[in-house]
Amino acid sequence: MNKDKVNRILNTFDDMYPNAKCELNHDNHLQLLIAVMLSAQTTDASVNKLTLQLFQKYQTVEDYAYAPLEELEQDLHSIGLYRNKAKNIKAMANQLIERFDGQVPSTHEALMSLPGVGRKTANVVVSEGFNVPAIAVDTHVERISKRLGFAKKDDSVEVVEQKLQKAIPKQRWTKTHHQMIFFGRYHCKSMRPNCQNCPLIDICYEEKREKYLKERSS
Ligand code: SF4
Repeated sequence: MNKDKVNRILNTFDDMYPNAKCELNHDNHLQLLIAVMLSAQTTDASVNKLTLQLFQKYQTVEDYAYAPLEELEQDLHSIGLYRNKAKNIKAMANQLIERFDGQVPSTHEALMSLPGVGRKTANVVVSEGFNVPAIAVDTHVERISKRLGFAKKDDSVEVVEQKLQKAIPKQRWTKTHHQMIFFGRYHCKSMRPNCQNCPLIDICYEEKREKYLKERSS
């Protein structure tokens, strides 16, 4: 993608969402990691509702590691995939104690060696928790990247991340990641994107844009 187009998109994001940020509530690295692990295929609002009480009950890494699995499952049961998430969080907490002195590590490599922590989760934790520039490709970032032409429709998540990293200046990665999530969550939604009021309609590849332009000219 050429630089003018990238700048136009980034400036539009700045106009629309100057204060975009992580919407998962957390007060420390452990809470951040747990919240991101819980957020897979679940809305941030559901996670925040759950962690309001969860973070009061479970305050240390030992609380998660030594909790009976059934009890942790019960405490997570309001969100999707709770059994799997409980199993991974308990195993992850045990690994933190055994290998990292109970601390959340700050590198992609170390984070991704933990149970249930994939590249997306690691990216969010390093950028949000440790100020390391990163672009986590979640469902919103993937969709927006493809609609706006940063990536092709059949590109994998890894390829989308590489293409975004190439196109966007490194110092803007984290900010753009949050802005893309806001753009996807509140404006360019999956099923009903707000094309009629979109400042980027002229450069969008989405089929709905075509449909809207046809309807407008007929
Ligand atoms: Fe999204 Fe529609 Fe804007 Fe394209 S024109 S970026 S599909 S809202």
